[in-house]
Amino acid sequence: MELPVVALPRPSSSVGVLPPLYARWMDEFLGQGLPTETKATCAQCAMCAYQDGQPILNDYTFDPAIKCCTYIPNLPNYLVGNILRDENPDMAAGQSSLRSRMEAGEGITPLGVSLSSMQQVVYSHVAMNRGFGRSKDVRCPHYVEGRCGIHRHRNAVCSTYYCKYDRGQIGLDFWSRVNVLLMHLERELSLWAAMQLLDDPKLLAVMARHDSMPILGGKAETRAPAGNWVNVWGKWWHEREAYYQQTAERVNGLSFAEVLTIGGATAQFRAQSMRRGYEEQMTERLPEQLTVRELKIRHFGPEDCFIESYSPTDPQAVPQPLLEVLPYFDGKRSVAEVIAVVDQEKDIVLDTGLIQKLVDFQILVQPAPAAGSGSTG
Ligand code: SF4
Ligand code: SF4
Repeated sequence: MELPVVALPRPSSSVGVLPPLYARWMDEFLGQGLPTETKATCAQCAMCAYQDGQPILNDYTFDPAIKCCTYIPNLPNYLVGNILRDENPDMAAGQSSLRSRMEAGEGITPLGVSLSSMQQVVYSHVAMNRGFGRSKDVRCPHYVEGRCGIHRHRNAVCSTYYCKYDRGQIGLDFWSRVNVLLMHLERELSLWAAMQLLDDPKLLAVMARHDSMPILGGKAETRAPAGNWVNVWGKWWHEREAYYQQTAERVNGLSFAEVLTIGGATAQFRAQSMRRGYEEQMTERLPEQLTVRELKIRHFGPEDCFIESYSPTDPQAVPQPLLEVLPYFDGKRSVAEVIAVVDQEKDIVLDTGLIQKLVDFQILVQPAPAAGSGSTG
């Protein structure tokens, strides 16, 4: 027996959560909007801390001069086109930073704008050395005066990353599913758009590059065509901005049903998986029994204990009295029994909403099935 399933309010639109193009696609597919992650307060970054007005920099905080933008985005051709053709004055800084990347040359192909080989080397080094959120060496070129210059057309990774999730692990799972779907679509749609504009011989070189990249731009120059990209661009070399804008025009005109056809079976599977994640995100459901997960204590405060559970960037402050009653969740008694016993023995009323939060944040988990109780298939 499970406690009642609660359906949470569903937003009517994803506008404001995702870039306009991706918001429209998600709304078409789900028939409703994606939820906002309110704990990732980007304007006043939730990962930055201060003392006497000065930033505190340690293993748990991000540098306010960078936030989480220690990342250089690969941009599929149609997002490049959308950035360039957007007349909103807020886009001026992003257009300028994009043009600087394009003028630098390397990694600029009919599929989009990707990392140069030097940027890849530096980024791998930073990623391996805990530089995320801290190293200015890989500050995004589109990060301008504390904000994203291409926010209205940011890519899948930037659109789906949050340092904290309102529903903890459930939110992380859901946004990961949106991420892998959109990343796949960026890869496939950029090729589809190139096919609309390039002739066959030039497409062969583009295909070689597409096939060498599990993620757009992942290994930028490893399978570059013989000669250089000038030959591949052909007549478009001197009209690259016009080319990118035309790819945007074509992709912007697609319905999400058409996008899924272009994306093939992988896109369709990932979209269904995302829909399942969405249903989980929008409902609350407590398992019948729960147990305490092995917890990493970050530190004890005077009243709270800071626990690292599902994510190192989202530790949870658990009040001491609550910490003391967690062992009542022993994986054998039902949640309803634990609530009654804790009330009787500790005079503490455990609210089901609070228990749901402990589940969402993976402090309480479903007990592992007893050995031999699973299906033998
Ligand atoms: S998502 Fe990035 S900018 Fe937003 S609050 Fe988190 S670390 Fe800060
Ligand atoms: S594109 Fe925008 S959100 Fe993404 S890393 Fe750059 S500044 Fe940050």
